Amino acid sequence: MPRLLIATKNAHKTQEISTMLGPAWELSDLCAHPEIPAPEETGTTFAQNASLKALEASRLFSGWVLADDSGLSVDSLQGAPGVYSARYAGPSATDADNRTHLLKALSAFPLPNQRSARFHCVLALAHSGTIHALFDGVVEGSILANESGAGGFGYDPLFVPTGYSESFGILPSNLKNSISHRSRALSAFVSWTKSNASLLA
Ligand code: IMP
Repeated sequence: MPRLLIATKNAHKTQEISTMLGPAWELSDLCAHPEIPAPEETGTTFAQNASLKALEASRLFSGWVLADDSGLSVDSLQGAPGVYSARYAGPSATDADNRTHLLKALSAFPLPNQRSARFHCVLALAHSGTIHALFDGVVEGSILANESGAGGFGYDPLFVPTGYSESFGILPSNLKNSISHRSRALSAFVSWTKSNASLLA
């Protein structure tokens, strides 16, 4: 079974990725590898930050590395918080701080047609200091006026995916895992592994 390191310390991301990938890989994440530092996210795009994380880890790990960079882009805020989603309310902000900050920023935009947003995910696949592929996923939706639900993480209690009337904080995790930005990027990764099976053996 090939070894795959998920280059994150975010247990929620690891849980989502491991549920979606199933048993085909021997998975671990950075919590199991304290010797591998998480690099500073100095990129200005999801692809740049995912590549930075994947490359850094793949120089220290003998196996495949998959790094996720993801975030929320709100149209009325010109795409913010974007790549700064994890630190929107400051360098040591919690998820709750970031949600409060977002609601404050959007208080000037109360109309339903001013609340459109999307989650983006880019996955970078690396081995031995080389990026082999990038995979993208997006889920469209809108931002609520108040938090709803306590499931998921990050901005989930504020985000209602298009076609649903509840937030990712309320919708079951298996539903989120079937339509999310991360699941769409992971599907692209799984298709890639099928057409590159000899490389992975
Ligand atoms: P990263 O760890 O630098 O990729 O930052 C990702 C940030 O984007 C997280 O800390 C969350 O704030 C937000 N985010 C990414 N994916 C999700 C998701 O599936 N649900 C809710 N928030 C998310």
